[in-house]
Amino acid sequence: MQIKGVIMVKLKEPESMEECEYFSRRSLENGHKAVVWVPKGTMTMNVNYDCFKCGHEGSITDEYGLPYTFYCESCGEEIKIQPLKGKAKGVKKKPKKKKIKEE
Ligand SMILES: [Zn+2]
Repeated sequence: MQIKGVIMVKLKEPESMEECEYFSRRSLENGHKAVVWVPKGTMTMNVNYDCFKCGHEGSITDEYGLPYTFYCESCGEEIKIQPLKGKAKGVKKKPKKKKIKEE
């Protein structure tokens, strides 16, 4: 049930990576953003996301597993989190062609 006007509270993000089995801050396809982490000693994946389509900010909690697909609670937009490939040192930015539809 969704009630308009309710302030959505995002999950509290960990203060350091040492609290986590896994921590990743992502820029996703289509401009979505997500922070993914698994608190130490658990297999619970917490996700804070910003939906590019509708601007909704929300949280998802589920069993840990990547790739992970979920849907924006507000508009139903599909949001995918892919596992990182390899162990890259530092962040390499590849130039990407972005197709953003504005309607
Ligand atoms: Zn949305």
